[in-house]
Amino acid sequence: MSEKVVVISGASSGIGEATARVLAKAGHQVFLGARREDRLAALADEIGGGYAPLDVTSRESFQSFVDAAVERYGRVDVLVNNAGVMPLSLMDSLKVDEWDRMVDVNIKGVLNGIAAVLPRFTGGGHVVNVASVGAHMVMPTAAVYCATKYAVWALSEGLRQERDDLRVTVISPGVTESELADTITEDFAASLMEDFRKLALPATAIGDAIAYAISQPAEVDVNEIVVRPVSQR
Ligand code: NDP
Repeated sequence: MSEKVVVISGASSGIGEATARVLAKAGHQVFLGARREDRLAALADEIGGGYAPLDVTSRESFQSFVDAAVERYGRVDVLVNNAGVMPLSLMDSLKVDEWDRMVDVNIKGVLNGIAAVLPRFTGGGHVVNVASVGAHMVMPTAAVYCATKYAVWALSEGLRQERDDLRVTVISPGVTESELADTITEDFAASLMEDFRKLALPATAIGDAIAYAISQPAEVDVNEIVVRPVSQR
């Protein structure tokens, strides 16, 4: 079966949107989730596929989202756990609400997705978790963000080890064009990101990596792909 039913969190912009475009073009059935429903509706209309509102921080919302995909297509083959936020700041700034939001979206959101989809997989299944190069290195202002991405890496690896019939892939992008930096509220962190973002890859580069992992034969599990601009250290 080469055509997959793929549910994608955070499909309203950036990497999730680009991934939906790449996968739809490759013939997969995509089901889009995020909070900005107007964007999902426009994208689904353009590329084909379905959508439903999704707040990944709510277990019930993720469950309803996956249920809606199963209702539409009869099954789910792949979950792309892509939704994420990155309000970078120095820890001294004590932006504790933003720490909470990163933990809620970037870690709990990924776990909620896994919990919603595992019972729905029939005969295998594939979880693709979008981490970051920040799952392998830490930078000033990115302590909490990187901690969430290290967590995504760790829980992906643990899930992979526990199951013989499940493919688990970590996608770790370097700097990529998207709206992610818009979540930064601290001037110092925003100024650090300004030069960095000039290196950014188009988001389709990450969509292509996800498409590659998904399209491998059933016995091949691509465990991790790190994709970064050639000039990013
Ligand atoms: P964007 O800000 O463009 O996209 C983030 C997506 O997450 C949006 O679709 C947003 O949708 C969704 N989202 C945020 N909060 C929630 C929520 N509570 N429930 C559901 N959806 C939510 O950024 P990117 O495309 O860059 O981010 C995608 C992933 O890539 C993230 O996990 C990010 O950490 C990772 N990444 C990005 C890099 C980059 O340089 N761009 C580098 C490394 C990793 P909405 O607001 O409509 O809910």
